[in-house]
Amino acid sequence: MQRITIGESTFSCQPNETVLETLLRENIKVPHGCRQGLCQACQMRSLDNSPPTSSQVGLKDTLQKQHYFLACLCHPEQDMTVALPNQQGASIEARVVSKQLLSPDIVQLILEYQSPFSFFAGQFVNLKRPDGLTRSYSIANIPLAKNILEFHIRRLPNGQFSSWVYDEVALDAQLSISEAQGACHYLPGRAEQPLMLVGTGSGLAPLYGIIADALAQDHSGPIHLFHGSRDINGLYFIDEMRKLAAEFDNFHYTPCLSGEDIDSEYLRGRADDLALSSTETLSGWRVFLCGHPEMINQAKKTAFMKGASINDIYTDAFHVFQVEK
Ligand SMILES: Cc1cc2nc3c(=O)[nH]c(=O)nc-3n(C[C@H](O)[C@H](O)[C@H](O)COP(=O)(O)OP(=O)(O)OC[C@H]3O[C@@H](n4cnc5c(N)ncnc54)[C@H](O)[C@@H]3O)c2cc1C
Repeated sequence: MQRITIGESTFSCQPNETVLETLLRENIKVPHGCRQGLCQACQMRSLDNSPPTSSQVGLKDTLQKQHYFLACLCHPEQDMTVALPNQQGASIEARVVSKQLLSPDIVQLILEYQSPFSFFAGQFVNLKRPDGLTRSYSIANIPLAKNILEFHIRRLPNGQFSSWVYDEVALDAQLSISEAQGACHYLPGRAEQPLMLVGTGSGLAPLYGIIADALAQDHSGPIHLFHGSRDINGLYFIDEMRKLAAEFDNFHYTPCLSGEDIDSEYLRGRADDLALSSTETLSGWRVFLCGHPEMINQAKKTAFMKGASINDIYTDAFHVFQVEK
C-alpha cells in the first residue's frame, strides 16, 4: 500500500484507489470534476517521486517535466508527497546585485540567492518585499553557476510594486522569492521544430530566457521573435537582439510598434498580427506568447486556427492583480 503525504498529513492509498479518491476519503479538499482525466481540474504536483506516466496523459510536456499529474488518474506506484498547484513551497531570500534602466519604462533587476533554487528560464516567481507586498515576475535568464535571477519590470503609473522597484529599490535590498512556477518554458527535444515567439513590452523577459535556453540547447529550427509595443519606450534590448540574430543564422528578430507616428525603422503594427500573418501555417510550430493578457487571448486563438497544436502553445499572461498583501 502506497502512502500519500500532503502538507503535514500522510494517508494510505487503498488498493485500486486513486490519489483523488484517497484524499477525498480523508476530507482533503481537492478541486475535481469529471474524474476521467478530461477536465484536468484535479491537477496536482508530486514533490518527490515521478508520478506514473498514465496520470500525466493530456498535460503539457512542460508540466509533465515538473511532475504535475491528474489525481483522478493516479494509481501511485510508490509513496508520493503531493501538493495542489497553488500550494507554494518554501520561499528563499535574495538580494539586489544590479539595477539598471533598459528603457525609460523598464528596469532590469538582478537578484542573487544562496539557497538551492531550481527553475526554467521563462517561468515566473512571486517577489515579496519586506512589508509583504507581492507580485509575479518572469525569469529572463537561464540557470547559471552564478545563482542569479534576472527580471525586467515595467513601471505602471502608480503601480505599487513596479514604482517601488523603479524609484526606491537599492543595491543590497532583500526580497523573498517563491518557488518558480508556470509552464511557459523551453524543453529540449524536437530541435528542428520552428519556434514563434511573440511578446509585448516586458513580455520580452520570459522570451529572452526561452531564446537563450533554446540556443544554449542547440535548437536548430528557425526561431522567430516578434517584440511589440505601442511606443518606443516599451521596446528594449534592440541591439542585443540584433547581435544575437547576427550570431545565430536560425534566430530572426522583428521589433514592431503599433502606435501613431512611428519611425520607419520598425515594422508597423501589432506584434501578434505581424507574427501570425508572417507564415502561411503554424502546423508543427511551437508558439510562445507573453505579455498583455488580451493579446495572448487573441493570439492563442489565431495560432490555433492557423494549425498550431494546443499542446504546442505556451503562454505567460501578465495579469495585473494583487497576489497578496
Ligand atoms: C505570471 C505573471 C508574470 C508577470 N511577469 C511580469 C514581468 O516579467 N514583468 C512585468 O513588468 N510585469 C509582470 N507581471 C505583472 C506584475 O505581476 C504586476 O502586476 C505589475 O508589475 C503591476 O504591479 P504594481 O504593484 O506595480 O501595480 P498595482 O499596484 O498592482 O496596480 C496596478 C494598477 O495599474 C493599472 N494598470 C494596469 N495596466 C496598466 C497600464 N498598462 N497602464 C497604466 N495603468 C495600468 C491597473 O488598473 C491597476 O490599478 C506578471 C504578472 C503575472 C501574473
